[in-house]
Amino acid sequence: MNTQQEKAVLFVDLKSQADKLGHGIQKAMNRVMAHGRFIMGPEIFELERKLAEYCGVKYAVTCSSGTDALLMALMAIDIQHGDFVVTTPFSFIATAEVIALLGAVPVFVDIEPDTYNIDPEKLDQTISALKKNKTGVIRCIIPVDIFGLPADFEKINAIANSHGLYVIEDAAQGFGASLRENKACRLSDIGTTSFFPAKPLGCYGDGGAIFTDDDSIKEKLTSIRIHGKGGDKYDNIRIGINGRLDTIQAAVLLEKLKIFDWELERRNTLAAYYHDRLEGKVICQKINKGFQSAWAQFSFVTEQRDIIMKELNKKGIPCAVHYPKPLHLQKAFSFLGYAKGDFPISEKVSKTILSIPVHPYLAIESAEFISNTIISALCRR
Ligand SMILES: *Cc1c(COP(=O)(O)O)cnc(C)c1O
Repeated sequence: MNTQQEKAVLFVDLKSQADKLGHGIQKAMNRVMAHGRFIMGPEIFELERKLAEYCGVKYAVTCSSGTDALLMALMAIDIQHGDFVVTTPFSFIATAEVIALLGAVPVFVDIEPDTYNIDPEKLDQTISALKKNKTGVIRCIIPVDIFGLPADFEKINAIANSHGLYVIEDAAQGFGASLRENKACRLSDIGTTSFFPAKPLGCYGDGGAIFTDDDSIKEKLTSIRIHGKGGDKYDNIRIGINGRLDTIQAAVLLEKLKIFDWELERRNTLAAYYHDRLEGKVICQKINKGFQSAWAQFSFVTEQRDIIMKELNKKGIPCAVHYPKPLHLQKAFSFLGYAKGDFPISEKVSKTILSIPVHPYLAIESAEFISNTIISALCRR
């Protein structure tokens, strides 16, 4: 039996990844079981050194999730009740949720139609308009590396500098990506990422990290992570959270980091194949010159989404819609007063976007099968 052909096409394939690592992950977990330092054990600090080195940044501070990474980053720059924080409506809820959680006000700016990332030109316009508004202070921008593709941080940082704002890169999907010679997570003042199992670098539960070159922000983050600790955790000098990463998860990540660049290469190969086969029949996410995606997703827009999804389903091929509803139309944010039509590009992309499997263990034959299925669905309509 040819197992490769018999193998079902999966959206992510953590089983094949574990097989590739042999007993590595199990052994790493056993080492933690043996030393018993489940909270802030030695693997945490080893991982932080390796992550910082990988991203070319001074500090990496691990934490409990990608959501908490964003929350802690906002806390570290003292975001206050009523402050304005500008972000994209085309993201996972967490990006804007943490802003509201702190009593700050999410302000959305529409995306570019081809990269699906926040539009720098509209960003500048929105910030200029906000500055005339006297009800709050604008403090920070949170661009998202959507589907693994970095936002245009060269333009965004210049805009932020001219207005005196912080920039936090939500690289939950972007770990491993780059913009020219700079890795994702180091593209602005603070970078955050997620180690949720399905992200480019995932652990076996929840996890995240925050990246910065700034000594005082790093100090604040390590304090916020453990209940606002001062000298020790029973000396509390600010309001913090329980935001630690488990030592076991750090051990898992150290193993997975060993093959991460190989995985990235695989994702790249598959993405290039898809682009070759599908561009023109659908419109693939545009990767501008100098940008390198981490390929958290391979996504395209098409008016024929329903037909394609139906055909993929019929063949047992998984696919996903990220995200069917932009954030400004979520009920949770109805208090912000946005309406349908406010961010037409995000709304249009939400209706036409589709993601197909691009995990590192997908055979090129499977990518061929998936491409053929999409193309024949488009011919048949
Ligand atoms: C996954 C994700 C998060 C949240 O990460 P968790 O680890 O699930 O908390 C935040 N922002 C974006 C863009 C994400 O994709």
